Amino acid sequence: MPKRIETVVLHDSSTPVLGDIQKGGSVVLTTVDTLLSQARAHALWPLTFGLACCAIEMMCTVASRFDLARFGSEAFRATPRQADVMIIAGRLSKKMAPVLRQIYDQMPEPKWVISMGACASSGGVYNNYAIVQGADQVVPVDVYVPGCPPSPDALIYGVMKLQEKIKKTRAKSFSELRIAESLNPRQMEEVRS
Ligand code: SF4
Repeated sequence: MPKRIETVVLHDSSTPVLGDIQKGGSVVLTTVDTLLSQARAHALWPLTFGLACCAIEMMCTVASRFDLARFGSEAFRATPRQADVMIIAGRLSKKMAPVLRQIYDQMPEPKWVISMGACASSGGVYNNYAIVQGADQVVPVDVYVPGCPPSPDALIYGVMKLQEKIKKTRAKSFSELRIAESLNPRQMEEVRS
C-alpha cells in the first residue's frame, strides 16, 4: 500500500513575510531599547504605601473619576517584591525611615520613587525633630509632586513624568542591574567590554 506523505507548513499570520511586505503590509522597525523602555514605562506597578493624608489622594487616582489604569499603573501591590515604583505619600517620620528603606531595598531592580506632597519632599509644615526633612535623605527620588495635598491628577502627571524618564533610559543600564546580582566582578567586566 503506497504511503501518503503530507507536508504541513506553520506560519504565524502576525509575522510579516516578504510576500506580505510586497503586497503593502505594515512593518514596524524599532530598537530593543525602545521596546523595553516603552514596556516598562507603561506597566508600572506602585507599592501600596501610604504614610499620611496624601495617601487619600493617592487612593483616589485609581478610582473611576481619575482612573490611573489609563496609564497602566492601577495594579497597586501589597508586597515590595511585586512592585517597581514606590509612591511616598505623606510625612516620613524618623521612626518610619528605616522601615521605608528596608521596603525599598526589597523591591526588585529596576525601581523608581515618587515623592508625593510637601511633607515627603521637604518635611512640609513639620519642621521638627520627628520628621525627616525630605525623603531623598533615605531613598533616591525620581519625581517630586508638589502640593499639600497634591490632587490625584497632579500625581498622575508625576507618573507621566516618570514614564518620560524611563523611556529615555537605555535598556543596557537595566540589564546591568540584573546581571550584577548573578555575576562576579570579572564576569561583569567581560559583559561590559
Ligand atoms: S503634604 Fe499636606 S496632605 Fe500631604 S501629608 Fe503633608 S500635610 Fe498631609
